Amino acid sequence: MSSNPYAGILQKQRDFFHSNQTKDLKFRRKQLKHLLEVITTNEDVLFDAIYQDIGKSKLETIATEIGLIKSEINHTLTHLDEWAAKEYVPTVLANFPASSYVISEPLGSVLIIGAWNYPLLLSFHPMISAIAAGNTVIVKPSELAANTSRAITQLINENFDTQVAYAIEGGIKETTDILNNKFDKIFFTGSTPVGKIIYQSAAKNLTPVTLELGGKSPAIISSDASIKLAAKRIIWGKFVNSGQTCVAPDYLLVDQKIREKFITELKNQLVAIHGENPENSEGLTRIINEKNFDRLQRLIDEKLVIHGGTSSKENLFIAPTLLFPVPKEHPIMEDEIFGPILPILEYSELNEAIEFIKSKPKPLSLYTFTNSSKTKQKVLDEISFGGGGINETLVHLGNHHLPFGGVGSSGMGNYHGKYGFDIFSHKKAIHEKSNLFEPNIKYPPFTNFKTKIIKWLLQ
Ligand code: NAD
Repeated sequence: MSSNPYAGILQKQRDFFHSNQTKDLKFRRKQLKHLLEVITTNEDVLFDAIYQDIGKSKLETIATEIGLIKSEINHTLTHLDEWAAKEYVPTVLANFPASSYVISEPLGSVLIIGAWNYPLLLSFHPMISAIAAGNTVIVKPSELAANTSRAITQLINENFDTQVAYAIEGGIKETTDILNNKFDKIFFTGSTPVGKIIYQSAAKNLTPVTLELGGKSPAIISSDASIKLAAKRIIWGKFVNSGQTCVAPDYLLVDQKIREKFITELKNQLVAIHGENPENSEGLTRIINEKNFDRLQRLIDEKLVIHGGTSSKENLFIAPTLLFPVPKEHPIMEDEIFGPILPILEYSELNEAIEFIKSKPKPLSLYTFTNSSKTKQKVLDEISFGGGGINETLVHLGNHHLPFGGVGSSGMGNYHGKYGFDIFSHKKAIHEKSNLFEPNIKYPPFTNFKTKIIKWLLQ
């Protein structure tokens, strides 16, 4: 086997890209419509694959994956002409007479590497933006969601020309082999440590990257929050996909004045949403594999369990678990939890909560529960984070009018809607000069009069 088994596929894509066919908007639209049709006709295959991988219900697969993919395709089809159009901008006075504009041109052959937790969304969503922007695409879904990875690969490879879109199954070895090739863009979703490996590998070829990473996303619950609603929305956001969501609230910072009331409400909502026996709840998926199950088990500190804490290794199930009172230095506060365990910390002053969050890497998401516009504004002004919500969790990622991405350790670059189109495009800046006349000002001799005019034009 050649040491670079994917070079041939990439060369095919490059040759096709250089034929200029992907530059045609009709061509891009045709690929997107085809993708929509392929996903729609194969929904059952995808439902089954995800169910086998993590036991996710059909409704949740629609709500958190397939529905978002379809709506992104439709949104992109509606706006593609507008996004791809030449954008006229003003010309500075010194450069008159001329016009200035920006052309969005595709980057070329792009690589998309996905994570396992929303395996369809994290492969197809960036693929939509890449195709819309006129690129060819190689997709590498996560091997950990093995059935879904196989289904995605089959759907892409059986329904698209290799020169336009191709999927490769595999883990670290295959991804390393793929990365031995020079791409025009790498779009990676996954953990921060692997993000660093991808970034280093891309640097060898100066390949631009978008890194959609993870981290610990906090939720602040202020004393003036609507307690019942806050608890309900946090329970939903934390335990959907059993906490295996990049933007799930990782831990809570609760104002100590409402601590008891709020914790009681969290417990009430857990029972109301997932029942007395959560193992039977269709809203709770399974943990992806034994390695993660064992890792999560080790994080459950029995002394701190105030709800849940039970599990079944055979079924890869961990009950939604609340831990309280969690000290700031507790091991569970070190890395992203990525599972159904919710540590609760308390604070006495908002500044204390803000300083604590700021002492940690910048989070992917932050959620603030408050009815005070002062509190809301203070949090938004003082803490840097990727994106988030006021009085809500998760749903900002479902709005294709908002950019989605991290900052600092939680990632770089953002996508969704036009933002996705833009990160897969180069913005080519053009100054188009009129031939009607040529001011002599930039040519010698440089008289005092010309100097004065230049000074005036450039002030
Ligand atoms: P991961 O980093 O282990 O794997 C992601 C991808 O990288 C997979 O396709 C995998 O095959 C590949 N990979 C793994 N190790 C590699 C290596 N050494 N060299 C090259 N490629 C390698 O992440 P995961 O476990 O699949 O996903 C969980 C992480 O992803 C969490 O941290 C979560 O927060 C994050 N995530 C972020 C987003 C986002 O949009 N920001 C979305 C989902 C998940």
